[in-house]
Amino acid sequence: SKGKSQRDLMDRIRVCVRKRPLSKKELKRNETDIATVHSRRSLTINEPKVKVDLTKFIEQHNFVFDEVFDCNCTNEDVYKRTALPLVEYIFTGGKATCFAYGQTGSGKTFTMLDTTHGLYAMAGRDIFALLAQPENKNLAAWVSFYEIYQGHLYDLLNSRKRLFAREDGNKQVQISGLQEVEVTSEKELIKVFDTGSGTRSTGVTGANADSSRSHAIFQIVLKNKTGKSKIKGKFSFIDLAGSERGADRGESDRQTRMEGSEINKSLLALKECIRALDLDSKHTPFRQSKLTQVLKDSFIGVKELKSDDQENEENDDVLSDSHYCEENDEQD
Ligand code: ADP
Ligand code: MG
Repeated sequence: SKGKSQRDLMDRIRVCVRKRPLSKKELKRNETDIATVHSRRSLTINEPKVKVDLTKFIEQHNFVFDEVFDCNCTNEDVYKRTALPLVEYIFTGGKATCFAYGQTGSGKTFTMLDTTHGLYAMAGRDIFALLAQPENKNLAAWVSFYEIYQGHLYDLLNSRKRLFAREDGNKQVQISGLQEVEVTSEKELIKVFDTGSGTRSTGVTGANADSSRSHAIFQIVLKNKTGKSKIKGKFSFIDLAGSERGADRGESDRQTRMEGSEINKSLLALKECIRALDLDSKHTPFRQSKLTQVLKDSFIGVKELKSDDQENEENDDVLSDSHYCEENDEQD
């Protein structure tokens, strides 16, 4: 039934992989393509869909994903099989998240936050098409755009103003003062995105000046035209910091090493939260990083938040965990 397939899709965490073509530089250096994609749709769930063939280098590894996109796939192909079903879901009041994870240069920004062809823009296009439907005439779209750099939040739509996250009385994490801008067309959405994108942090050290060391979070929120405080649906697009190891990040000085350890910490926390959610385990360690803390509501529905609260009460040690984002960190 429709209900069931909708639930199946929404309850699950789906992991997809996209292979990008070799760049001109890589071709010039005569680098070889070592990843073979088995594009045939698998009948059995455990059949590998992507084969990373490293035989030349002794080993061979096979990996399985929910979806695999070969290098001839377009952003539109990726969008249709990843984010599009979630666009419909947010109109039912859901909260959806789409992450791009990978090393610097693997195509995260190209996929997620390319100004005109990123998944965020395609979702925007389809959200406005749905908003034009008579049954949605009371809804409006708002966007926010912020980044997490070194465990701190910065508003990309408000001159990188430092922001603070707090849990409210309902244990919902709120970012106080986060700029939200109402948008009424795809064009407007892209314009707001562009403003924020231009504000994204660049590395402090000149040699590595790029945005690969911060997590960027672009959110489209549906609200009632009246009673604007209540969120009726939310879609988060996240361009994560590069997942490369410290040595590959060229972490020679203290600053870059510190950035690196913060990135490792948050990506590890993300991995642990996703694993916990996937295994339906009782405790999900959202508090282990700022990234997972602010995304708590987007990982799980409001209903599930209740059980998380009860569980936190039973596990007071969660609060004293050394990784816990200190409240006093929020007050400076
Ligand atoms: P990341 O954000 O992961 O560091 P980028 O999105 O900046 O990586 O991609 C690195 C480079 O590769 C960019 O020049 C981008 O335009 C190019 N690129 C990435 N994915 C693709 C793709 N699927 N097809 C063509 N070019 C791509
Ligand atoms: Mg990038």
